[in-house]
Amino acid sequence: MAFNNRNGNGGFQREMVKGEWKCSKCGAAITELPFKPDPARLDQLLCRDCHRERRMSRGDYR
Ligand SMILES: [Zn+2]
Repeated sequence: MAFNNRNGNGGFQREMVKGEWKCSKCGAAITELPFKPDPARLDQLLCRDCHRERRMSRGDYR
């Protein structure tokens, strides 16, 4: 089949959700997230830095 449907990595775009949230750890403003936040967990949001830090220090992948 001649479908030229390769999954090129050239311009892949993650859908970002815009909003106004606050990091529960450092208090930084969060203006966009790569996922739609759970309204029940809005006070547990982490900014990108804190999120990465937590992942690195705990080593769990979720
Ligand atoms: Zn933070």
